[in-house]
Amino acid sequence: MDLKELQSIQRRFDLEYFPEFWRIMNYEDFLDRLEYITVALAGEIGEFANIVKKMRREYLHVNRERRDYLDTLKEELTDIFIYVLIASNLLDMDIEEWYTRKSNINRDRFKKYKDDNL
Ligand SMILES: [Mg+2]
Repeated sequence: MDLKELQSIQRRFDLEYFPEFWRIMNYEDFLDRLEYITVALAGEIGEFANIVKKMRREYLHVNRERRDYLDTLKEELTDIFIYVLIASNLLDMDIEEWYTRKSNINRDRFKKYKDDNL
């Protein structure tokens, strides 16, 4: 399954469950949806960060405790990914194409670090 397919699955899901959200008639509607998705994405990133905070706090203050939060982290990362797919659909972008483009830019940008390690 590629990213285009995942975007399509998410689009179908959203249209089925939240058809009103996707009824975008003008720029004001678009901004409204963009703001909602931005807040939702930031919320999911916050949930991820909060788990990392707990892991660090428990390790530091509870006898170097190492509780297994990995499944919870994976769940929150998936929530983040879902909102990335939704945002991609709102922006009508092919996230796979943009990933490849940006990845090539980063490859050039970070080349100096790789060369330093040789
Ligand atoms: Mg979540």
